Amino acid sequence: MCGIFGYSGSKNASQLILEGLKRLEYRGYDSWGIALQDQKSKIKDQKLIAEKHVGAIGDVNSDFRLSSVDSYVGIGHTRWATHGGISETNAHPHFSTDKSFCLAQNGIAENYQKLKKDLQKKGYKFKSETDTEVIVRLIEDKLASRVDSGVVRGFVGTPQNDKSNSLKEAVRSAFLELEGRNTVIVLTDDGQIIAARNGSPLVVGLGKREVFFSSDTLSFAPFVSDVIVVENGQMVTWNGKLDLLDIKSNKSLPANPEKINFKSSKVDKEGYDHFMLKEIHESPYVISQVINQDQSSLDDFVKVLKKAQRVYTLSMGTAGVAASQIAFYLRNYAQINAVGLIAAEALDYYEMFSNQDMIITPSQSGETADVLEVLEVAVKKNVKIASFVNMPGSTMTRVSDYKFMANAGPEICVMSTKVFTSQIAFGYLIAKMAQGKGEEGVRNLQSLALEMQKYLDSGSNHEQIKQLAKELSKKKDVFLLGKYQNFNIVKEGMIKMIEGSYIHAHGIPAGDLKHYAITLMEKGVPVIVVISEDIAKDDVLNAVNQVKARGATVIGVSPSPYPGFDYHIPVPDTGETSAIANIIPLQLLAYYMAVELGHNVDKPRNIAKSVTVK
Ligand code: GLU
Repeated sequence: MCGIFGYSGSKNASQLILEGLKRLEYRGYDSWGIALQDQKSKIKDQKLIAEKHVGAIGDVNSDFRLSSVDSYVGIGHTRWATHGGISETNAHPHFSTDKSFCLAQNGIAENYQKLKKDLQKKGYKFKSETDTEVIVRLIEDKLASRVDSGVVRGFVGTPQNDKSNSLKEAVRSAFLELEGRNTVIVLTDDGQIIAARNGSPLVVGLGKREVFFSSDTLSFAPFVSDVIVVENGQMVTWNGKLDLLDIKSNKSLPANPEKINFKSSKVDKEGYDHFMLKEIHESPYVISQVINQDQSSLDDFVKVLKKAQRVYTLSMGTAGVAASQIAFYLRNYAQINAVGLIAAEALDYYEMFSNQDMIITPSQSGETADVLEVLEVAVKKNVKIASFVNMPGSTMTRVSDYKFMANAGPEICVMSTKVFTSQIAFGYLIAKMAQGKGEEGVRNLQSLALEMQKYLDSGSNHEQIKQLAKELSKKKDVFLLGKYQNFNIVKEGMIKMIEGSYIHAHGIPAGDLKHYAITLMEKGVPVIVVISEDIAKDDVLNAVNQVKARGATVIGVSPSPYPGFDYHIPVPDTGETSAIANIIPLQLLAYYMAVELGHNVDKPRNIAKSVTVK
C-alpha cells in the first residue's frame, strides 16, 4: 500500500517530509526512507542523500540523521512490503546507479520479473529484491537508449534543460511499460520532482511558494490551500513550475486546482491511550454524521436505488463486511435484490453487470485496489455507482454517480471501528428510506446514538470487558456465533479480534455450526454468541445449547441473560438497530485483548489501512 510524499519549497524539507510520512503511516509501516537534495554536498556529482530504516516512521523523533541537512526539496516513503523482505536495502527510495535520481513507488509492477530479466541481460545490476528497483533500472535504460540514439547527449554534463526533459521522457516511457496499479515519485539531483499515476492515489498540494506530493490530502492539509487530484494516466513535473501531462499522448493538460479546507482535522488521541479507543468512543458522533447527510442527494439516490434491477454492495476487509450488512438491510427492510460481495471475488459477476444495476461501495480510504478494479468494469458497463467514503478527494468518489462522505473524521487506528459503524448505519438509513420509512430510520439512529453513548460512558462496561479480555487473551481460538442481523456483526468481531490479538477467531452463522465447527467444541473453548430480540433469537439459543453440551464456555452478548451463558455482556436493546449497537462490545473486547497482550494497538503487524495493491 505504501505512502509517498514529496516536498519542494522554502522550508526545511526533512521535517515536513517526516511529518507527512507520519500522517501516511497508516498505509504501511514496515520501513521508511527519505531522500533530499543536498546542495552543499561535498561529494562530486552526488547531490542526493538518503536515510532509510526498518520499522515505523511514527516512532522517529524530529532529530533523525537527515534533519540537520539544509534542504528544501525531497521525497519520502513509508512501506508496506509486497515484493522483497522487510529490510533497509528494500526500503524506498531506490537510487539510479549514478545516484542522479531516486524513486519511491506505491503499487506493484506486475511484470517486474520479465522486465528484470531483460535488464539483467543488458548488464544492469540489482541490489534489492523489490519491483521498485526494476522501475529505476528501466528508467536508466530508457535514458541510455536516448543517449545512444542521439536524442540527447551524454547525461553528465548535459545542459540542464535537455537533461530534465530527457529524464522526464525516460520516466514517461518506462511508466508506460509497467503493468499493474502504480504510482511513482522521482527526485533528481537538480531538485526536480516527477510523479506519475496509474491506479494508486496521487495528490498535489499547493501552498504559498511550495508544493507537496502525497498519497492523500490529509497528510499535507495544514499547509496547503489548493489541491490537484492527479488522475490515472497523468504525470506531474515540478522544477519551479508545475506541469501536468497525459502520459500516453505526452500532451500538456490544464491543472485544475480545487480548494480544500480541513485544517481543523484533529489527529491527536485527546487523552485516550490509543486512537482505537478514541475512535470507538466517536461512534455516536459518526452516527449523527450519517443522519446529517444532505437530504436531497439521499432522496435522488434512493429513487434510483429502488428501481435497480440488482444491487451489488461490495468492498474488502471490514468494509466488505459492512457491504454485506448494507445488503442485508436493503433486502430485509426494502426487499431490494441486493447481494453483498467481497470485491476481489466479483470476477464471476462481471458478465452479469448491466446498466440496470447499481453498485454500492463503502470504503474508508476510497482507494482500495480490489474495489477500483470492479468499478473500472462497472463504469464500462454503465452500472450506476454509489460510494460512501471517509477520505476526501478519493478515486472512488470521483468515479461515483452518487457520492456520500462518511464525515467520520480521520480514522488513524489501522483497525477500522467508527467507520464500520458509520457504514452500516448508512446502510440502515438508506434501506429505511427505500422502505418509505426514512423518518423512522432517522429516529431509530438517534436513539441508537444515545444508547451507545451511555454504554461507552459506563466505566463498569469497560471493566467487565477488560476482565474478559484477560481470560480470552490466554486462549488459542475464539468462536463467534450470530444469525440474521448479527451474522455480519460476529464476522466483524472476528476480524477485529484477529487484527488486534493475533489469536485465531472464527465467526460462524449460528445455524451452520452443527454442520462442521461443532467438532471443535470441547471443554473451555470460548464461544461468543450475539443475540438480539428478533426472529433469529430461538435458533441462536439452540446453538448455545449445542456448544454448551460439549463443554464450551459461552459468552453471551444480548440485552438480557439466557440459560447457558457463562458470562453475560449486557447491551442495549435498540430494536432494528441492535446489530449496530452490538459491534461496540466486540470492538472493545478486541481492543482490550490487544492491550492485554502488549500489541501495537493502532498498528497491528503486517496490515495497512489503505490497501492500494491487489
Ligand atoms: N512493491 C513495492 C514494494 O514492495 C511497493 C509496495 C506498496 O505500494 O505497497 O516495496
